[in-house]
Amino acid sequence: MVAGILDEVYAACRDDTSGAPADYIPELAAVAPDSFGLCLATADGLVYRVGDTDVGFTIQSISKPFTYALALADRGLDEVARHIDVEPSGEPFNEIALEPDTQRPSNPMINSGAITAASLIEGPDEFERVRDCYSRFAGRELRVNDAVYQSESRTGYRNRAIGYMLRSVGIIDVDPDAVVDRYFRQCSIEVTCADLAVMAATLADNGVNPATHERALSTALTERVLSVMTTCGMYNAAGDWVTTVGLPAKSGVGGGIIAVLPGQLGISVYSPRLDGQGNSVRGVAACRELSRRLELHFCHVT
Ligand code: GLU
Repeated sequence: MVAGILDEVYAACRDDTSGAPADYIPELAAVAPDSFGLCLATADGLVYRVGDTDVGFTIQSISKPFTYALALADRGLDEVARHIDVEPSGEPFNEIALEPDTQRPSNPMINSGAITAASLIEGPDEFERVRDCYSRFAGRELRVNDAVYQSESRTGYRNRAIGYMLRSVGIIDVDPDAVVDRYFRQCSIEVTCADLAVMAATLADNGVNPATHERALSTALTERVLSVMTTCGMYNAAGDWVTTVGLPAKSGVGGGIIAVLPGQLGISVYSPRLDGQGNSVRGVAACRELSRRLELHFCHVT
């Protein structure tokens, strides 16, 4: 039944070729624009997939919940909360602004919060720990796409400005260049739609990877990560998303989206044409349709 519905949702969304891939770096502009993959992975280890589910692309902002997860594991809820709030900002994801009273980034799903989370990862070799963490969620070793990393680093002045702003107010107390470099690398980790489904299913399975049975995150911290994804995961379309899909989620400019039904399943979509908010057009449409057909909305009343 699930496989049939996945096929139907895929077919219903496939012909929508509106939107355009991100083009702020040449590597993202050069992807096959009409690639489309859709996966659903259950918390008990089943994976359903249709379309281009093995095409590699960069994780981009879908990295944010996972680095936040590792920062929480390293530093604990209270210390992380002293550095990063959990409030939707209502501002663009790369806004150069902090909360006026506390000087904290509003949440870990915008760049200022994500760069702060990256600064809280413990060493030595902080980035390798980030890569290991994502790999545990995915159940296989993930690697950096070096061309994307080089481009992110060559053009990333705004993120550097954010890093220096955070350092100037003491929210980051280490070298901002090293931290922003870590952030560029994490955004450049290459995944497939199938990987993202397992990562989402690991969040659904209270932090245990349903394929490898390895624990990637504690239950309590998984709850925190999913909560922030619910309110802040879909750029400035978070309210519309919660209304029409009703699942914790995160999207990235690479064209990926993950969505999680806690305790049950993870969904992932890859389709690089983005809407005006920076979310995958077919990704949003497919998640809406799956949520409706499978009655996944967390406010669904029978
Ligand atoms: N590397 C991107 C940036 O920080 C990530 C953007 C995104 O996926 O939102 O500008």
